[in-house]
Amino acid sequence: MTRIVLPGDVAATPRREVLISGASIAGPALAYWLDRHGFAVTVVEKASALRGGGYPIDVRGTALEVVERMGILPRLREAHIDLRRLTFLGADGGEIASIDPHTVTGGVAGRDIEVRRGDLTDALYTAVRDDVEFLFDDSIDTLDQSSGHGVDVTFRGGGSRTFDMVIGADGVHSRTREFLFGPEEQFHRYLGYCFAGFTMRNTFGLSDELMMWNTPGRAAALYAVGNDEVHAFLNFARPEPPYDAFRDLQAQRDLVTDAFADAGWEVPGMLAALRDADDLFFDAVSQIRMPRWSSGRVALVGDAAYAPSFLTGQGSSLALVGAYMLAGSLADRDHGAGFAAYEHSTRDFVTANQDLVGKGDAALFPTTARALEQRNAMLRRLSAQSASPAAPAAPSASSASSASSASSEAGRPAHSALTLPEFRGS
Ligand SMILES: Cc1cc2nc3c(=O)[nH]c(=O)nc-3n(C[C@H](O)[C@H](O)[C@H](O)COP(=O)(O)OP(=O)(O)OC[C@H]3O[C@@H](n4cnc5c(N)ncnc54)[C@H](O)[C@@H]3O)c2cc1C
Repeated sequence: MTRIVLPGDVAATPRREVLISGASIAGPALAYWLDRHGFAVTVVEKASALRGGGYPIDVRGTALEVVERMGILPRLREAHIDLRRLTFLGADGGEIASIDPHTVTGGVAGRDIEVRRGDLTDALYTAVRDDVEFLFDDSIDTLDQSSGHGVDVTFRGGGSRTFDMVIGADGVHSRTREFLFGPEEQFHRYLGYCFAGFTMRNTFGLSDELMMWNTPGRAAALYAVGNDEVHAFLNFARPEPPYDAFRDLQAQRDLVTDAFADAGWEVPGMLAALRDADDLFFDAVSQIRMPRWSSGRVALVGDAAYAPSFLTGQGSSLALVGAYMLAGSLADRDHGAGFAAYEHSTRDFVTANQDLVGKGDAALFPTTARALEQRNAMLRRLSAQSASPAAPAAPSASSASSASSASSEAGRPAHSALTLPEFRGS
């Protein structure tokens, strides 16, 4: 969309320059809205190109309004994955229950969308790439805001520049957050599981369906998107987060392989595929909870500030809404007032969504034989009945929590608990 600058408006003042670290969901969405509000934007991404891959993700509630205002909703609707069936399996691979996904995902059929993560990043990037500067294969080396007039940044790739503001959109293990506030451990709320996702060949004859195998504390899923591609997903309970493995790919493979060493069903084939997967995404299931999202001229958005974990299914939606709110809050304010307005307007929404899941109580991933049997009994009832409001959610990143999906505010579901304001320029 064309930006309209009124005569005598901001044209006379130099555009404020913002550096965003991270080009996934939050980064490009923020770049889009800051550009619309008249900022000069640079995005630095450590990967050499836009990163596709990852488990399919949901865009729901308030976030749908954000993508609609960006003009990319039709494209995302076209990319929507129409999952037809969820089948749950026991330890021996026998069927426990097969159900219609709409009965358990916590979303609104016909309105919410689920897309490949790469389709969303690509749509966001395409919407903004001609208007802002992207620096791939680079990252921030140092940040210094001691001058009081801006943020002096040096880049790993060489060179230095000064920006009016810097925003960290660099994910759950954000380096920008570490620069500002210190080690991640202070803000990391571990939810008791680790997971690995990767794609593998669809040799199973699956089509637009998800199969999940469980034993206490372990889940293995195959999610077929179309006929060709299968997303493999392995989730396991672990008392402590494996901090040492976060930056060590081989350690991640070893951890997952050990956890599923004696597992049945298709798991041995999945472990073999894991060894060769070039798109492995491994992480602890965790949230980031911070008392403040900014310091001076530097702020955080998306997972860097408030990762909710895939158990809520709201990571991408929070990133999209947070980006819209941050850019709008800065539109006619300086950084101090703008960052304060962003937190003030967005924190309750974030917290309501993070609270969708409690520690160690993911209904989809029971850790004891008794809890697994209870879950299976519920799934059998659902399968017989076809709908139930108190169901667990699918690992399509939807709410897999046993907590309520409604926010306390006005009884609205957490996904829709924020009404997007109109900002000048949006
Ligand atoms: C390749 C990939 C696959 C994913 N797969 C899954 C999945 O299967 N399941 C799931 O629950 N979530 C997954 N996620 C996370 C999911 O995208 C986020 O939870 C959510 O969408 C919020 O997005 P975000 O933009 O805040 O953070 P993220 O999507 O995590 O994006 C952060 C971006 O910052 C970049 N970055 C990191 N550090 C630096 C640095 N120092 N300098 C510059 N750039 C940096 C990263 O390369 C990435 O592009 C994946 C993320 C990525 C990048």
